[in-house]
Amino acid sequence: MSGCYALLVAAGRGTRLPGDVPKQYRALGGEAILRRAARAFLGHPAIAGVRVVIHPDDRALYDRATAGLGLLSPVVGGATRQESVRNGLESLADRQPDFVMIHDAARPFVGAATIAAARAALDSAPGAIVAIPVVDSLKRASGGSLAAVDRKDLWRAQTPQAFRYADIVAAHRAAAGLDLTDDAAVAERAGLGLALAPGSEDNFKITSEDDIARGERIVAARPALPRTGMGFDVHQFGPGDHVWLCGVKVPFDRGLVGHSDADVGLHALTDAVLGALADGDIGAHFSDRDPRWKGARSEVFLRHAVDLVRARGGRVLHLDLTLICEQPRIRPHHAAMVARIGEIAGLEADRVSVKATTTERLGFTGRGEGIAGQAVATVLLPDG
Ligand code: MG
Repeated sequence: MSGCYALLVAAGRGTRLPGDVPKQYRALGGEAILRRAARAFLGHPAIAGVRVVIHPDDRALYDRATAGLGLLSPVVGGATRQESVRNGLESLADRQPDFVMIHDAARPFVGAATIAAARAALDSAPGAIVAIPVVDSLKRASGGSLAAVDRKDLWRAQTPQAFRYADIVAAHRAAAGLDLTDDAAVAERAGLGLALAPGSEDNFKITSEDDIARGERIVAARPALPRTGMGFDVHQFGPGDHVWLCGVKVPFDRGLVGHSDADVGLHALTDAVLGALADGDIGAHFSDRDPRWKGARSEVFLRHAVDLVRARGGRVLHLDLTLICEQPRIRPHHAAMVARIGEIAGLEADRVSVKATTTERLGFTGRGEGIAGQAVATVLLPDG
């Protein structure tokens, strides 16, 4: 037995919303809806792990949307939502969960309090759904007349819907082939008593362009704080006929020595971004004893660091790099370097600065023994 897992259902096609990609992969404030939903569970102390059920055509979208998050590997869904959930539940069997929370990936603003309330409700019931009371007056329109409907005892069901794992797996197996409206309906059919836990108005499901606009307003209203990180790196010259600097191959009569491609510019930038996150350094994330990074192109490192910023709901605002060397000359490659860094980090060129200086022939760079890079990254992170 090992805790509570979150199962995010993202296998739908989202046909109600036009666009190039299914709605769960659309961006809100620059971050995929699915990613926001996954982060809410990942960061929650009640949750041991998060798995997403995806459509078989969406693997590339999924990989891009969840890069760096550390989710369990995704599973492929079925022809209906119910089948998708069952696939997801069965896939968790080897983890022997005590509990599972099933959540619509299109509800990106599920809050920590909602997740905690769903989990707490399981202490006294085999299942729980988060829901909010109906506050608007309800009318039934038929035959040209409007009849009032008593809204007392009426609730709007949201997700997560939380269950004891063994109970909901059994209930889903028993309901295979039926078309029930949600997991609560599957549970009720199996005779499981369900508790209500308080949901939230912000935990709405994104189904329309109006919902996208509402989501953008919520994201924009959240406070974000700037963070600054600094990075510094040095590599020594060795034999070779080119050096890699800022992801650009620069012809030279020597090379730079290193476990990876020894790109001091990208290494300093990577450390600057990690510094802004207070998340260690490049060596902690990419050990120089790991054969995977032998000869690696350093753009992998910077892209990873930027992905970590996005994983925290933040974004990189600006990167500033100084290369310190007598040779090679940087100026002829300056524009290419700025463009390359921008591509790797997903920044416009006016948010990338590359400068070069010598040390007036003083010190190791002055003697032409190697190149140093020094960088500053400015990052915007959500507050709290
Ligand atoms: Mg280095």
